[in-house]
Amino acid sequence: MSRAPKYVPTPREQSFLDTVENPRYDRQIINGLDAFFEDRAPEDMAGFYSKDEIAELMSLRGTERDVEDRMPVKITRHYFELAKNSKALQRLVKASADETLNLQGSEDPGYQMDYSPVEGLLHKYEMGLMYVISTCSAHCRFCYREELISRKEIERLDGTVSKKGLSQIGEVTDYVRAHNADVFANGGVHPESGREKLREILLSGGDAMALPNSKIAAWLSALAEAGVESIRLGTKEMAFYPDRFDEAFLSMLDRFHETYPEVGFRLMVHFNHPDEFLEKGPDGQYIENPNGTLKWIPATKRAMDAVVSRGWLQVENQAPIIKGVNDDPDALRIMQRALYRVGVGNHYFFCGRDIVAYRAFNVPIETAWSILNESQKGLSGVETHARLSITHYKGKTEVVAVTDEPIPGLAGTENGVLIFKILRNAADAPDRGKVCIVGRNPDAVWFDDYEDRVIFDEAGLYDYTRVEKVVEPVPVMIGSPGGS
Ligand code: SF4
Repeated sequence: MSRAPKYVPTPREQSFLDTVENPRYDRQIINGLDAFFEDRAPEDMAGFYSKDEIAELMSLRGTERDVEDRMPVKITRHYFELAKNSKALQRLVKASADETLNLQGSEDPGYQMDYSPVEGLLHKYEMGLMYVISTCSAHCRFCYREELISRKEIERLDGTVSKKGLSQIGEVTDYVRAHNADVFANGGVHPESGREKLREILLSGGDAMALPNSKIAAWLSALAEAGVESIRLGTKEMAFYPDRFDEAFLSMLDRFHETYPEVGFRLMVHFNHPDEFLEKGPDGQYIENPNGTLKWIPATKRAMDAVVSRGWLQVENQAPIIKGVNDDPDALRIMQRALYRVGVGNHYFFCGRDIVAYRAFNVPIETAWSILNESQKGLSGVETHARLSITHYKGKTEVVAVTDEPIPGLAGTENGVLIFKILRNAADAPDRGKVCIVGRNPDAVWFDDYEDRVIFDEAGLYDYTRVEKVVEPVPVMIGSPGGS
């Protein structure tokens, strides 16, 4: 197989890239359960798993219920220090045998590969999402990219089976240029897919902050050169290893902004629980500042202040609501208030997706809605921007409302209804605002669980057929600075 030609940066990119420093980071990561099975974990970390837990996890090794076959274990020293005093964080990062009791679920939730025009790029809405790395500093047990992180084989739209690959700069920038040229030539929408300009790209994975600065910088500048208007970087590193947001990284961002001032940048952080960033006293309670606000963990506060104080970028939090981690209105209330106070927007809370073993992690949809709704009581309007979203194959939907009362005269509403609203369509022209109303099912954790109680479906969530052609041909770009 021939390799794609090497990407060649423009002189402007190169002069930016020449300024980037790559310090080494000492995250003190424990990678895999073997360290605990074989007594190789540092002495103070050895008790993180009890003897019974170790025995049970060892007994599953090599069977179809092997927890690390589903999702490898990984934890940083920083997160261990937080988790040892937090049941919620332990649930987030510690493997447990109940994860694999029910292995129902999809290896490609949302048929994401249907939207992948080139390897490692998902093109949905006016956005692209790239897999730039297949790991993070630590691994969340509920991760909905478990198939990428575990390097599993998945089925593509054409029926072939292979591991998900990572995106390559040349291929992605060629695709962006080609798509946008076709959109421009066709008056604003793509002639085949009907989609608009690809104006925003999310660096994802895995966690882009687990890459060296030079790799992050190479993506930022190449995308800027390709005409992308805004770049997001999705990361949980602020929770796993806040010292990663150091002077070298921040200077790189500043240089990027100086070089490409017209390109927006959003840091999409991922905090699930206030235990990830608020300091606790010996009594296990959050420490209050003299004015009644809550004290942040110093390293995390330093990192957060450093990014938020760069007024040209935005910081937003988004997180799933996960059983045993943050299905707790009080925790979510504290988190939304504390984040907004330091300048972090509360973007989305998500219902868990239908990943393999999702029944171990997903909170019923109606419960998640109640938890979020409850958590927002008493918060101010600006603190409650977050919505509850669940991603359907068709696109992103919001769980708008759950009612308790029947609608008089309307069959199927005896126990109340739940209303989904389409926020964005994944493939074609926007269908935003259309709703689907279903009779309540308090046990429902996925759309399937409402299949027998659909009352009204202008959104078309329940007559969905898998897309057959979203992938646009990738023309060869003559003279592209991307080179491939
Ligand atoms: S940080 Fe995100 S991508 Fe990484 S393991 Fe957690 S959920 Fe998955």
